Amino acid sequence: MSKFLFTVLLLTLLSWQVQASVNFGALYAVAPAGDGDAPEDSVNKDIVTLVKLSEKNPNRAKQALKKLSATLIVSLNSSEQYLFYVAQANIAKHENNHQRVITLLKKALALSDKVPDKLLSTPLFFNAHFTLAESYAAVGDYDAAYEHKKQFFLKYQDDYIRRNNELVAALNKKYEIERKAQENALLEQQNKLEQIEIAQVEKLQQENQRNTLIIGAVAVIFILLMLRQYRVRKQLLTLARTDALTGLVNRKTLFYLGNKLVKKAKEQQRPLSTILFDADFFKKINDTYGHQAGDKVLLVLAQLGNEVLRSRDVFARIGGEEFVILLPDETIERAKAVAEHLREKIANYDFSAQEIDTQVTASFGVATLTASIDDFDALIAAADMAMYQAKSQGRNQVVCYNNSFSENPHSNIRATQPSQR
Ligand code: GH3
Ligand code: MG
Ligand code: MG
Repeated sequence: MSKFLFTVLLLTLLSWQVQASVNFGALYAVAPAGDGDAPEDSVNKDIVTLVKLSEKNPNRAKQALKKLSATLIVSLNSSEQYLFYVAQANIAKHENNHQRVITLLKKALALSDKVPDKLLSTPLFFNAHFTLAESYAAVGDYDAAYEHKKQFFLKYQDDYIRRNNELVAALNKKYEIERKAQENALLEQQNKLEQIEIAQVEKLQQENQRNTLIIGAVAVIFILLMLRQYRVRKQLLTLARTDALTGLVNRKTLFYLGNKLVKKAKEQQRPLSTILFDADFFKKINDTYGHQAGDKVLLVLAQLGNEVLRSRDVFARIGGEEFVILLPDETIERAKAVAEHLREKIANYDFSAQEIDTQVTASFGVATLTASIDDFDALIAAADMAMYQAKSQGRNQVVCYNNSFSENPHSNIRATQPSQR
């Protein structure tokens, strides 16, 4: 501390003294309280109160001192003894007994070695120098007065600086706490923002997943619908091409396939033969056993026909009880053998499972592509004529076409767009 500051402090305090009685209570720090570590450290609260009272109201302090003296004097430690002298000195100063003030405060200061520095540096203790300086001045000992006033200001200055430092430290601490609180608030804000961002990203991901699922589901539904459409189309095509009762190729498809096979056979110069057969006396079966039983017989005929055929052969039902078989690459002899085999199978079949206890037979006409029978219509017509011949010869037999046959008067074969019976 510079001399200048010291002089300013000295002059300020002196001016307070001149204008009014100094309220030292205002300079005191919080009264030191014993911390219990060492006896010298702890100061009885009553003595602290007494010292403060002696500064403000010496008369009341004098009464309080008498009461206290009786109880405390024996057990006082050095710090308390110091303050006890100070209180007594303050009262003596009020009574203008400066010699007593000097005596008492000298005793007090003599205890300084035993009083902890922590306490000596507080105004409660170092004010003794101020009081002593005034009393020395009052008795004319200005050197001693100067010396003690100087000591008072030095200690006052130290105390002032110490308290300032404490204040600065407290403010720094407070500032640091506030700064940390602001930092925490900022971090919390950032955290919240990050959480909001994460939540948004998660929401976006969920929306993406949902959209992907929707697109996937729509695609699956679309594919299923397409498959269903495909199946329905296939079924319709099959229905259009086949006979509903037997599942065999229908008349229309037979003519379509037959024309193709004729064309192919002619191109490749390969044989193509056909068998046309018709159930004998079928009307009678219907009349005797009923239409349903007749249907069952037709199913058996289709089944037996399938049993004698190869996979590349075409088997069709072209009318009520009339069937056609196309045999690519087969000669008329081979076709005749197939027809004979089928005729026998039908004639020997036991229809009791169909609740028909009579023999069922069929008449067969066989024809093949030749120079004169060179289209499909002609081929079928020839087979039909042969079949008619078989009927007229007694039924349940196979007849191969030859040029001498007359046309079947009941035939519906020639018509290109015949109606199904
Ligand atoms: P034929 O030996 O001369 O061929 O005598 P038919 O009785 O077999 O011939 P006809 O033409 O007189 O009679 C054919 C019968 O076939 C008449 C008809 O009721 C029957 N029919 C036609 N289509 C079906 C069918 O899908 N189911 C059944 N159960 N009967 C049918
Ligand atoms: Mg018929
Ligand atoms: Mg018939």
